[in-house]
Amino acid sequence: MRLHFRNASIIDASGALPFRGTVTVEGNRIIAVTPSPAVAASQPDDEVIDCTGFTLLPGMTEAHCHISFNNLTSIYSAVEIQPEDHSLIALANAQLLLRRGWTSLFSAASAKPRVDVAVRDAINKGLFEGPRMRAAGQEMTPTGNLGDLDTTYMTFPRTLRFSVACDGADEFTKAARLAARDGVDTLKVNVSGDRDWGHMHADDTVTVITERELAAVMEVANARRLTVATHCSSSAGVKMCVRQGVPVIFHAPHADSEARDMLESVKDRVFVVPGAGFPIGMFRRHNEFRLGWTKEKLKSLEREIEIFSDCMTDLHKRGVRVLPGGDYGAFITSPMGENAKDLELFVDLFGFTPMEVIVAATRHGADLMQLGGETGQIKQGYLADMMLLDGDPLADIRIFQDPGRILAVMKDGKFAKRSGALSSAAPIRKTG
Ligand SMILES: [Zn+2]
Repeated sequence: MRLHFRNASIIDASGALPFRGTVTVEGNRIIAVTPSPAVAASQPDDEVIDCTGFTLLPGMTEAHCHISFNNLTSIYSAVEIQPEDHSLIALANAQLLLRRGWTSLFSAASAKPRVDVAVRDAINKGLFEGPRMRAAGQEMTPTGNLGDLDTTYMTFPRTLRFSVACDGADEFTKAARLAARDGVDTLKVNVSGDRDWGHMHADDTVTVITERELAAVMEVANARRLTVATHCSSSAGVKMCVRQGVPVIFHAPHADSEARDMLESVKDRVFVVPGAGFPIGMFRRHNEFRLGWTKEKLKSLEREIEIFSDCMTDLHKRGVRVLPGGDYGAFITSPMGENAKDLELFVDLFGFTPMEVIVAATRHGADLMQLGGETGQIKQGYLADMMLLDGDPLADIRIFQDPGRILAVMKDGKFAKRSGALSSAAPIRKTG
């Protein structure tokens, strides 16, 4: 049986303008893209969905995803969840994101060592429906940096934390090998500090890791064919990542012109994922959540947003692949499921056109997932990962944020969501 999405406005993510046509799916593949309202020759048991007025586009990749960060209220709140419960919460989040159009997730760290791996494997075995996943383990971080939750008087079990503290190349090697043993796809390393968390951690302009420590992780990754992704906000950190061949750099707001030149020089093999929804959520919604933040705190968040905007606008102009997604669920002000807010931010703040951010979320996202040529475009022979929107996202990028306008999501040829409003059109007779 074949399924025809008839007379849709198709955004194929090649960068071409949308065109009207019919997309035909058989099994888990797109077998035809026919650019005209007329449906291709059909067999008697084919199903036809009339997509007049709707937009069909590839499923998206969440490029910095923490499915086990469950709308946290503090940096400690993930510790309190037991691993069994945590895996189920993460699975539910993965399924929520799939229904919102994110057919692929690139993890930016798991709150406990094997949560991502367990969810990914259960989905791949067919035990549960869910998106494609690149799983990560905990973040590897130097003592006194983001994710080091311990104090002199209080030590949490290593396996309950979203990070493991490592100092010196040998400890980073060990942590990387333990993560490899757990079955991760991605090793996450915290290269820089983070925004103001009070006295606890280095700030986001500080490069906390040494070149030898990062090289040790890269050595394990290269030997085991794993990806390395870094939390890296500082300029010196970005330069170190480029020198060491890190393919995925998260944040990067403080990259100076030399660091931006270096990123541009490797633009065919590097991805930058700003994750700016996190500070923006904190800034815009602090009242709603009664966070009681000081004027200084809000000023520094506002400044951070300006720095992000300046840097990402420039990197995008230089042709560096900057991808949406990031840290939804890591704090209550940017909850899990609202991830498509990033598409709007890219348009409003980073100078992307709606088409450019759609290509970033789909075609470039597939490249990040190492699935380029298989997903991320609507093209004959590609895997049928697609979403159907009510309306035109080029006219209003916010459509992605409204679950009611996401009429269907398909992953691997199966519907993860199908709105009751989507009726089957009359069967089409065989032609000729
Ligand atoms: Zn993150």
